[in-house]
Amino acid sequence: MSKTATPRAPIGAAPLETRQILDMNAFDASQDGAGEDPLLSRRQANFGAASVLFYQRPIEMVAAQGAWMEAADGRRYLDFYNNVPSVGHSHPRVVEAVARQIARLNTNTRYLNQSTEAYLEALKSRLPAPLSNIMLACSGSEANDLAMRVAMKATGSSGFLVTEAAYHGNTHLVIQASPSSYKQGQPPNFIETVPAPTEAVFGADIAGGFSKAVAKAIGRLKRRKCGFAGFMCDSIFSSDGVFSDPPGFLAATIQKVHAAGGLYIADEVQPGFARTGDALWGFARHGVTPDIVTMGKPMGNGFPMSGMATRPELLSAFCEDFGYFNTFGGNPVAAAAGMAVLEVIEDEDLLGNSFRVGGHLRGQLDDLATREPRITAVRGAGLFLGVDLSAPDAPDQPDPMFAKAVINGLKDRGILIGAAGKYGHTLKVRPPLCLTEGEADQFADTLQATLAGV
Ligand code: PMP
Repeated sequence: MSKTATPRAPIGAAPLETRQILDMNAFDASQDGAGEDPLLSRRQANFGAASVLFYQRPIEMVAAQGAWMEAADGRRYLDFYNNVPSVGHSHPRVVEAVARQIARLNTNTRYLNQSTEAYLEALKSRLPAPLSNIMLACSGSEANDLAMRVAMKATGSSGFLVTEAAYHGNTHLVIQASPSSYKQGQPPNFIETVPAPTEAVFGADIAGGFSKAVAKAIGRLKRRKCGFAGFMCDSIFSSDGVFSDPPGFLAATIQKVHAAGGLYIADEVQPGFARTGDALWGFARHGVTPDIVTMGKPMGNGFPMSGMATRPELLSAFCEDFGYFNTFGGNPVAAAAGMAVLEVIEDEDLLGNSFRVGGHLRGQLDDLATREPRITAVRGAGLFLGVDLSAPDAPDQPDPMFAKAVINGLKDRGILIGAAGKYGHTLKVRPPLCLTEGEADQFADTLQATLAGV
């Protein structure tokens, strides 16, 4: 049996508190548990109020290989948090490509360079043909910032639509389109939100319900005189709590977005580069063609690089107002890293592995859910799954504190994982794409033991 429903607050219960994304599983200096770790004290002194660390007893990492990370005390952890070194930690081909190129030349894109053009041609051959211009930057935030600016210029409007618990980055513009980051207050005038595409909100007809909600939200933006520049979404709805089904449900929404004169920005920072197991890009699961695609995190397997792909006419319009140059973006070392990632995905059939091992893992978790009443939903695609945890005897009541305890319990048993969702009660299951079935089984068994022991 597969559980897919999403919990909601029971009628008459106290309103559920929404969680800020950086608070989930975060170290809290005001609570006991850290001890007198001198490295932790130095960290707090150096980062100050901006310090964000995982776990009440943060881990000092010293090495990593494949799906495994190693701490300073010699403990090894299976990395199920992974969303950057997606082809495997310290993959030898990426390491070798970066080392070879940095030993030879690293410079900016204002000189001609074969590696950068070869990489862009390889990347473009894997994207929808109309998106034939690519701007390279260093972070997903920069890519999404550019995407929003391109959409504003193309439409002459400033209004954007995102999901309620979306995260798209940290620049001044993009953070406003990232409600999961707000510590206080409401979205600004030019941002509208829609609930994530859940069964709890929209019932069985997710495609119809979500697209109607999108159309209404566009109407609100227009009435506020912001106009409608675009709908930006991550097609796996990662920070909203992982919503991937049914395949194709986004198509009706994108039709409405286009009919209203806006652009569809596909934020592939999370679902891109084979994560969802059915295609290289998350949007392909829905049979839609974006106007703009942004990418980052796994693009360089840890080498900081990102990109924004769009149609030439949209980029030309943007460049009427501003030139664009990014000192580190698209340098030959980034190109070498990016090319190695594309080659490894293909040569090691990581898309196929994501599909096969992801399907196996899904089966294990569905099975566990039939035996564990506190698992109230299992969702996702490929090697990106979400597991909802709810209060005992109250399947409609999300239990973020229990999720936190399970995350810490998994860590004690040697597995790293994160949380997601508006209420922080969804386990974000996201191992590297090179995961083996044995490692998937190890996770399912350890989760079972943890649920029994927390
Ligand atoms: N988009 C999504 C969907 C993300 O998850 C993130 C980062 N968590 C970003 C954009 C921003 O990327 P970066 O941290 O590289 O700026």
